[in-house]
Amino acid sequence: MVHEINLESWLVWTRNHLPSDPDSRVKLFNADANLLVKEGNRDRLLRNRDMDQFYGAIIAKVRDGKEYCGIIYLMYWLREGATEIPLYIGKAERYGRDGLSRNLTNKSFFGRWGYPRFYHMGDLSTSLYQLALTGDPTGRHSDWALKLFKDPSQRRLARQVFFWAAPWSHSGTCPCGISVNVVALEKCLIRHARHFFASDNLNIVLGADSCCCPLK
Ligand SMILES: [Zn+2]
Repeated sequence: MVHEINLESWLVWTRNHLPSDPDSRVKLFNADANLLVKEGNRDRLLRNRDMDQFYGAIIAKVRDGKEYCGIIYLMYWLREGATEIPLYIGKAERYGRDGLSRNLTNKSFFGRWGYPRFYHMGDLSTSLYQLALTGDPTGRHSDWALKLFKDPSQRRLARQVFFWAAPWSHSGTCPCGISVNVVALEKCLIRHARHFFASDNLNIVLGADSCCCPLK
């Protein structure tokens, strides 16, 4: 059965896929009790070790499993300890131009969450560093730096940031109840996130909405 886009179908989908037990939620950053994010080489914001372990296992699973078409991931806040606020939705596809994607085979790319330039942690670190230095962030993740950090010079988060990801195969269904590959799933989730969480969602959609799920 095909469902139309609505908040309920989003909530059911997230309930079925994301952990609801507080102990199973994975934090994105390596931060202390005051939400100050620790820094590595070259001003890089460090990922949480739990995130490294959790996501590293998913990368290996998708890299080695032909049944998967990629990884879907979500960076989120929690509202009242229970409702996920989708800050950013993305994917890492299994295949690139020449076979297996380097996002899965190159350790430093780390399924798009690596520390180099053009990868999420690298670009966010650069934008935050500029924001702290000049009060004006530059770079690809300027809006992330402004949204996630309360006190840029201290690298203090506004709120705890969580991370979720899952291996995806073509047989999985999106919130509309349609079997989708990871590319279509990403589009469907972004459409829901931008519609229902517009003030917090950081996804940028270029051009027309190309989600193929039925419109309301
Ligand atoms: Zn859908």
